[in-house]
Amino acid sequence: MNAGNKVYYIPRTAFTSTKEKANIESHLQGSFPRTIVAENDAQFKDKSGNVLGSIAKGQQVKLHMVNGGRGVIELFGKRVYVDLSNFKHIDQVLPKKNISYKEMEYHIKVFSYMYPEFTKLEKIGASVEGRPLYALKIGNGKKEIIMDASMHAREHMTTNVLLEMIDEYTYAYINGKKYGTYNVKALLDKVSIWYVPMMNPDGVTLVQTKANATAATKLLNNGSVNYNRWKANIRGVDLNRNFDGGWITKASTKYASYKNYKGTKAFSEPESRALRDFVAKHQFKSYISYHSSGSVLYYFHHQTSTQLKRDLALANSIKKVTGYSIMPPTGETGSGASADWFIMNYKMPGITVEIAPFQGETVVSLKYWDSIWKKNKTIGLLAATEASLR
Ligand SMILES: [Zn+2]
Repeated sequence: MNAGNKVYYIPRTAFTSTKEKANIESHLQGSFPRTIVAENDAQFKDKSGNVLGSIAKGQQVKLHMVNGGRGVIELFGKRVYVDLSNFKHIDQVLPKKNISYKEMEYHIKVFSYMYPEFTKLEKIGASVEGRPLYALKIGNGKKEIIMDASMHAREHMTTNVLLEMIDEYTYAYINGKKYGTYNVKALLDKVSIWYVPMMNPDGVTLVQTKANATAATKLLNNGSVNYNRWKANIRGVDLNRNFDGGWITKASTKYASYKNYKGTKAFSEPESRALRDFVAKHQFKSYISYHSSGSVLYYFHHQTSTQLKRDLALANSIKKVTGYSIMPPTGETGSGASADWFIMNYKMPGITVEIAPFQGETVVSLKYWDSIWKKNKTIGLLAATEASLR
């Protein structure tokens, strides 16, 4: 094998077994292999960790998967292991497709392995079915903001928005490049962004694959096995009605359902508790929650005076970039929405961004992706900038 300007012999035993390849790659179809670039001369090893050679700085290789914290790459048709912190990506996330929970998990692991110097990956809890809920921080800023997506299952395109932000912002950060008018590294080293790209992985899995559909989910779906309209978590609680923003007076369906049931009490669900407990450990300057219906922004939950002025100003600057309309205050006092809980509890801006035109009870068509991305690509940096000033 030739790597850089040297020739190496790689023993057959170093290669990934066909079985392992099939297991790991089966759920990553379409997301690999992706090209990565050596940031330094980077050793490559066999499965047991024996050094086989090194890849010259600047050389491009194909990343096929991650395994035990290491990258599995292909060199001239053979698979070997590398420490991904010696590499950087070019374009990791392909966003114009449905992104599964497994693929989301894969991407955020890849980013955290590639960029340990300015990212941090945390498990913040687990879903009803036991899928870990992840938060990925980018930047070394002491101040922090948080963004989340896919609290409503059928709104899973919002996960694509956050993953593509992570992809492009980390690319700009590591390469010292500007993103639009933003100096990404300087900004994120003032204000870090925590991303929770998929709040409701069980629901998203149900919508995308039906792999976890049961007699119980069918019942909650009014007897239908068309799960495209599913919003709730897997046991029929609408997570965005389960937070305590005056939960007690929030209207609700009476029983668990594919939508609109607020649960037996505030924070009855492991997914909402995970976010609550994670937020409690931080001092977030703002919270941007991504949803997908109606091309509108929500910012109001009974704030007054300077708090109201500040939050409306942030909503207005997001409106200016996205073109989304700002929803006027309603008379509703109680809420189970995560952003309303955040506003009430932390007295900081909580903005709900609805990325797509009204769809009715179904997933957002991928034909909207390009325009949605164009509208939202700078919103993380916009929110970080706003937070940096206070
Ligand atoms: Zn929603």
